[in-house]
Amino acid sequence: MSEPFLKVEHLTKHYPLSAGFLKKPSLFVRAVEDVSFSVAAGETLCIVGESGCGKSTVARLLMRLVNPTGGRVLIDGTDIASLEKHELRAWRRRMQMVFQDPYSSLNPRLTAGQIITEPLENFEPLSGKQRNALAANLLEKVGLSSEMMHRLPSELSGGQRQRLGIARALSLEPSLIILDEAVSALDVSVQAQILNLLMDLQQEMGIAFVFISHDLGVVEHIGHRIAVMYLGRIVELATCEALFANPSHPYTEALIAAAPVPDPTRIRSATLVEGEVPSPINPPSGCAFHPRCPLAVERCRILVPPLVSMPDGRALACHVRAPDETMPALSSLPATLVNSTLV
Ligand code: SF4
Repeated sequence: MSEPFLKVEHLTKHYPLSAGFLKKPSLFVRAVEDVSFSVAAGETLCIVGESGCGKSTVARLLMRLVNPTGGRVLIDGTDIASLEKHELRAWRRRMQMVFQDPYSSLNPRLTAGQIITEPLENFEPLSGKQRNALAANLLEKVGLSSEMMHRLPSELSGGQRQRLGIARALSLEPSLIILDEAVSALDVSVQAQILNLLMDLQQEMGIAFVFISHDLGVVEHIGHRIAVMYLGRIVELATCEALFANPSHPYTEALIAAAPVPDPTRIRSATLVEGEVPSPINPPSGCAFHPRCPLAVERCRILVPPLVSMPDGRALACHVRAPDETMPALSSLPATLVNSTLV
């Protein structure tokens, strides 16, 4: 793999909860906590986790649709937070996003051809001939007939609309596309077609994908590496093969055990996790998974486990499965801290 195109370092996002006029907020939604990863050109990094784990907030932070509370997003070595508005606009050409609901993300009053060419026309004027040629080319690239360029989104099926959304993202020849639950709203057969289309486009154009999904079957099909998130943090990051063959974090084990298995001969672990995902406003102290974890020990309640690099190349945040020798012994901590959250 080449040098990472996208590098995320210690990304954090806390949303303050309104405390009333002129009052300083004391409560925050801790949507993303200390998230780091990288994505190389031509690579697909999938981010999975239950709803509310912070994966869609990561997508918005990558596009700088919201500003981080802490940490950095580096695109080709440049920190996007350091860019002025006009510079950011130019950089956005290199990063595009495809959303879950293909219908609400497309302007219902524009034809398919106008939807595809609109992003490019924001940067450079196009003649009518150029516009038609670009729209026809991209429609064919995503497996739609060029004759569809005069149709409105309401005249297309769900799968066709999502193909149109992908064609629109491709119009600026981006290096990175962020796909936020991009196939979740589609039928299974259409999902497979769109996933295969994305993989073909990646091979042809070398685009990097950040693919966000709650569906493990989908990420197993498309991912090179997978980051598992729980309550705002990455708890395991591994290659797709390693993660499915040998999940190491108790939460990853539980997610895989809970996923439907289409192959009746495939044996799966009986590990199932109980209880609800805690609130990100008041997350549990220490390892946020400890109230639901069958392996939890006292240390888990007190100290946040760091993401540790393992000998097999994966990264894991778990006191039991990936103990970090550099962390303090519980006996060395002040008694007052033992009941509080240490970050
Ligand atoms: Fe379970 Fe503790 Fe590991 Fe968290 S750190 S996953 S609570 S064993």
